[in-house]
Amino acid sequence: MNKRGVLLLSGGLDSVLSGKILQEQNIEISGFFAITPFFTLNRKKQQFLKVREMADWLKIPLKIKYLGDEYLKIVEHPKFGWGKGANPCIDCRIMILKKAWNYAKEIKAEFLITGEVLGQRPMSQYLQALEKIEKRAEVQSLVVRPLSAKLLPPTIPEIKGIIDRGKLLSIEGRSRAKQMELAVRWNLKGYSSPGGGCLLTDPIYAKRIKYLISKGTLDKSMVHLSKVGRHFFLPGDTQLILGRDEKENQILEKFSYKGILLEGKGIPSPIGLLINGDDWQFAASILLGYTKFKDGEVLINNGIEEKIIKAIAMPKMKSSIYLK
Ligand code: SF4
Repeated sequence: MNKRGVLLLSGGLDSVLSGKILQEQNIEISGFFAITPFFTLNRKKQQFLKVREMADWLKIPLKIKYLGDEYLKIVEHPKFGWGKGANPCIDCRIMILKKAWNYAKEIKAEFLITGEVLGQRPMSQYLQALEKIEKRAEVQSLVVRPLSAKLLPPTIPEIKGIIDRGKLLSIEGRSRAKQMELAVRWNLKGYSSPGGGCLLTDPIYAKRIKYLISKGTLDKSMVHLSKVGRHFFLPGDTQLILGRDEKENQILEKFSYKGILLEGKGIPSPIGLLINGDDWQFAASILLGYTKFKDGEVLINNGIEEKIIKAIAMPKMKSSIYLK
């Protein structure tokens, strides 16, 4: 067995420290970052930059893996269920470990390293779940978790003496005191804050995704749209999305092929995209509710023809509201 491992980086403190702890034992590390379709549009770039910064700090190469349609399938039908939102954490960890292991085999690395801390996350970071995830990903005893290693069964690289188990740690739970102490010791700055990143854990967002799942319409374009604007779920499985700023309006226009576009005529107004329905009168009233006007004309464009209708504004509503 050689001294080469693949580190699953997230941009956060735990994963970068895990790499550093092993570098102190002269382990040769390559970074791996899997990005799912469920990072927010801004967050995706931010997260990527953080991961890049952390890989640079460790002075290691970084492999980025984008997860697409196959990831949507596990969100739709997770074998091990969702967490509190629409987060299929166990299935997600299995997929990411499998991808990382494939990469490890490509570069002839012989084990994986993660920043997981026992008991830090309720769904996926307790011993039984870690073991189940490893087994399903076919990497049993090959995942080194330097922050909690002493609380876990020894891994193969530890048993073979490639990694000195005595120099690994026994951190458990949500307190980050020990990690902060290590960050200060190694003058590590700029890592991203814990949690965040994955929209699937957000209860409001999860509602949107579960709605799409229930209608069998979860695909890449709908995931993209799910991150944009205010969402209204109307009778008859119809969905209305209203842009909240110019950027979102432009995105909705780009996806005009998904439905009917609405816009206030001659007045400042959001762009609306009505999907899977033709009750534009109702949609126009909702849209006017997000202008300064009590009534007005709304331009309707279905891609073939344009028409102008008159509507009365409805009171503003919370986004993601179900009008059923
Ligand atoms: S929070 Fe999101 S990215 Fe993290 S394990 Fe769960 S599903 Fe995967």
